[in-house]
Amino acid sequence: MVKAANSRGTTPGSSPRTRILIVGGGYVGMYTALRLQQKLKAELARGEVEMAVVTPEPYMTYQPFLPEAAAGAISPRHVVVPLRRVLGKCRILIGEVRSVDHAKRTATVATLATEEEGAGGVQLGYDELVIAPGSISRTLPVPGLALYGIGFKSVEEAIGLRNHVLEQMDIASSTREPALRDAALTFVFVGGGFAGVEALGELEDMARYATRYYHNIKPEDLKWVLVEATSRILPEVGEEMGTYAVRELRRRNIDVRLDTRLDSCENRVAVLSDGTRLPTRTVVWTAGVKPAPVLASTDLPLNERGRLKCTPRLTVEGVEHAWAAGDAAAVPDVTSKVPGAETAPNAQHAVRQTKVLAENVVASLRGQPLKEYAHAYVGSVASLGLHKGVAHVYGRKLKGYPAWLMHRVYHLSRMPTFNRKARILAEWTLSGLFKREIVSLGSLEHPRAEFELAAGAVPSRPLTRRHEDPPNGAKGRRQSRTGEDPGEG
Ligand SMILES: Cc1cc2nc3c(=O)[nH]c(=O)nc-3n(C[C@H](O)[C@H](O)[C@H](O)COP(=O)(O)OP(=O)(O)OC[C@H]3O[C@@H](n4cnc5c(N)ncnc54)[C@H](O)[C@@H]3O)c2cc1C
Repeated sequence: MVKAANSRGTTPGSSPRTRILIVGGGYVGMYTALRLQQKLKAELARGEVEMAVVTPEPYMTYQPFLPEAAAGAISPRHVVVPLRRVLGKCRILIGEVRSVDHAKRTATVATLATEEEGAGGVQLGYDELVIAPGSISRTLPVPGLALYGIGFKSVEEAIGLRNHVLEQMDIASSTREPALRDAALTFVFVGGGFAGVEALGELEDMARYATRYYHNIKPEDLKWVLVEATSRILPEVGEEMGTYAVRELRRRNIDVRLDTRLDSCENRVAVLSDGTRLPTRTVVWTAGVKPAPVLASTDLPLNERGRLKCTPRLTVEGVEHAWAAGDAAAVPDVTSKVPGAETAPNAQHAVRQTKVLAENVVASLRGQPLKEYAHAYVGSVASLGLHKGVAHVYGRKLKGYPAWLMHRVYHLSRMPTFNRKARILAEWTLSGLFKREIVSLGSLEHPRAEFELAAGAVPSRPLTRRHEDPPNGAKGRRQSRTGEDPGEG
C-alpha cells in the first residue's frame, strides 16, 4: 500500500495522490515507467498514484540499432518504441523540461502548444522525481564544426546521414569537377567509440555495395577516414579486440588515424592535427557525450562533469524524493576497485539501473529499505558492417561473423517489445532474399518544396540541393515531434 503523499510531511505542496514525474523517455525513462506501471498497478488503478513522462519525442530510440538504420538494414520506424502504446498507464507529455525547482517540487515544461501560444511553459508539480534526460554530443570549439558537423545520436540524424551519403554519391556521379567529386566521396568520422565505428562500418559497407549501381564510381574511389584522439578504438571491447577492429577497418581501405584530432572543418576542408587537409562534404562527430543541459537548470547537485551526484541507491545525493540513472547520473560503481569510479554512460548500465531504481521508488513509497545498484561491466559487442564484428563478453573474445551474429542476437533480445523484435527479425530475413535499398530520400525532409515551387512561392529548400549547402544533420527534428513515429529514410 502506498503511503499517502500528504502523510509524508516532507513534500512541499503535496497532493492527496503521489505524483511521479519522469523526465526523459529514453532507456531510463521508458524502462522505469514500464516497471513502475507493473509494480504500482493496483495503486494506479485506485488513483493513489499518477505518473507523467515528459519527453521531446513520443518514442524511445534504441540507439545501438541506429547504425543499421543508417545503413538501411532496419527501417527507422522499427528502432523506436512508441511511448503512448507501451506506457498506457502514464500521461505522456511531449515537451522539454526547462528547469526543475526541487525544493518546491515543480518542473517548468515547454511543449509545442506553449511555444505556439507564446506562453513561457507549464508548471508541473510532483512528489517523486525521476530525472533521466541522458546526454548530448560533447563538442569542442573546432572551427566549422557547428556549421558542417553531423551528429549521430538520434534516428533523424541516422536517416539524414544515410540520405546525405547517397546524395554525395549522386553528386560525385554527375559532376565534371574533379575537386567536387573527391570532396563528395570523402567521409570523415571523428571519434572511435561505439557510435563512430559502427556508423562508419555500416555506411562504408552500404556505400561500397551501392557503387555497383553507379556507372562511374568504383569502391576504391570512396575515401573513409576515422579520426581518433587516443591510441585505440572501441575501448569497450578491450585492447586486443580494439586492435583487431583497427586492422579489419584498414583491410577494408578505411584510413584509421589514431592519436589524431580534428583541428578544423571550415570551408569544407577537414584539417587534422597531423597536418592532413581533407576536402570533404561529410564530417560526422561522435567524439563522446556530455550530460543533458537541463541538469544545469535544476537545484540538484552536479559533479565537475555536470552529471547528477547520485548514491548507489540511485537517489540524488543530499535530497529526498529525487532519483536518477543512465547517462545523466554519476552513480558510484561499487564493483570497482578504483576509488571514486562511476558507472559508464552506456545502455548496459542504464537498463540494469532502471530495475533497481523502480524497485527503490516503490520501496520508498512503502517505507521499505532501499537496494544498492551493483553491476560489473560484462564487456561489449560491436558491429563493423554486414557479417563483420568484434565482441568481448564475459571474458570471451569473438571476431568476424560470430561476433556480428552475437551483436545481432544480443541487441534483438534487448530491443523492447515483441512487436519491434518481430519486425526487425522479419526485415533481416527479407534482406537475405532481396537486394539492399540504395535510394536517397533526402527530399522527405522537405516535403513542401515541390508544391511551393508549383504554387509560385520560392521554395524554402531547393529541389536540387546547392553544393554549398551544409549537410542536413538533424534538420526536421522539431517537425518529427508532432507525429508518433519518425518518417522512413
Ligand atoms: C549510435 C549509438 C550507439 C550506441 N550503442 C551502444 C551499445 O552498443 N551498447 C551500449 O551499452 N550503449 C550504446 N550506446 C549508448 C546508450 O544508447 C546510452 O548509454 C543510453 O541511451 C543512455 O540511456 P539514458 O536513458 O540515460 O539516455 P537516452 O536513452 O538518451 O534518453 C534520454 C531521453 O531524455 C530526453 N530529454 C533530453 N532532455 C530533456 C528535457 N530537457 N526534458 C525532457 N526530456 C529530455 C531525450 O530526448 C531522450 O528521450 C549507443 C549510443 C549511440 C548514440
